Amino acid sequence: MEDGLSPQKITSGLNNRIIGRRVLCYPSLPSTMETARKEAARGAPEGTVIIADEQTVGHGRLGRTWLSPEGSVSLSVVLYPDIAGLPYLIMIASLAVARSIEALTGLEALLKWPNDVLVNGRKVAGILIESSMGGKAVDYAVMGIGINIKVDISAFPEIAATATSLSGELHSSVSRLGVVRRLLVELDGFYKAPRQAIYGEWRSRLTTLGRQVCVVSGGDAQYGRAESVTADGSLMLRADDGSLTKVLAGDISLRDAADDNATR
Ligand code: ATP
Repeated sequence: MEDGLSPQKITSGLNNRIIGRRVLCYPSLPSTMETARKEAARGAPEGTVIIADEQTVGHGRLGRTWLSPEGSVSLSVVLYPDIAGLPYLIMIASLAVARSIEALTGLEALLKWPNDVLVNGRKVAGILIESSMGGKAVDYAVMGIGINIKVDISAFPEIAATATSLSGELHSSVSRLGVVRRLLVELDGFYKAPRQAIYGEWRSRLTTLGRQVCVVSGGDAQYGRAESVTADGSLMLRADDGSLTKVLAGDISLRDAADDNATR
């Protein structure tokens, strides 16, 4: 396949310090996260990247399904951050995806707190961070990224209303190899960047801030204005009664309050 991915094509000429120095490619995997966890558990070098053309049981947060058909790219990165570095992984992944999309396509990529990358208001990529703790230290973390590159989203009715792909937005083909290479360069650049700079750029790209939102956690829904985000990645939600609540990224989903009212 002209646009087929291989470790050699992906890494050729890249001078990355950590992320992407070792790349493993698979035509199909159940889940790149699962393979990356196994690699980490057996001590794979930091920055090892697992890439699959297709995942058969890809998942998102909270056990949700992540569709990764042919034409998309799914990759997971093995990392060994210190505990203070954990909250930055979601920011680094989001920024690297957004910057890569903008550099290669000219499309504007915005971030929806906590983990979605949007183009023209629709989700083009998903991000998942998993970590394994050994006492108070991080054993390893795995950063997962799925991007809809050359995907006809209309073929997937369950996401057709909310998702998009780069080829769909551009009405032309996009090189998967080009996206993966650029993504690895951006990830590597951000991974050891000053944390204040990462947080600052992440905050400035969040489309969520200033909006009336509905935070859903388990069976509970909280309404308010998304006022700000803190350096640990949490959202500060201002309720109508003026109270301010810190919402951790962990177990919640975020919807526009207007959308939520419309569906109730
Ligand atoms: P939401 O975006 O609804 O807040 P989430 O951030 O809580 O979801 P994620 O883990 O990011 O959850 O993504 C899982 C959700 O993304 C699925 O429930 C599905 O609605 C949607 N989805 C699944 N596959 C894709 C895809 N390839 N492209 C875009 N959206 C997808």
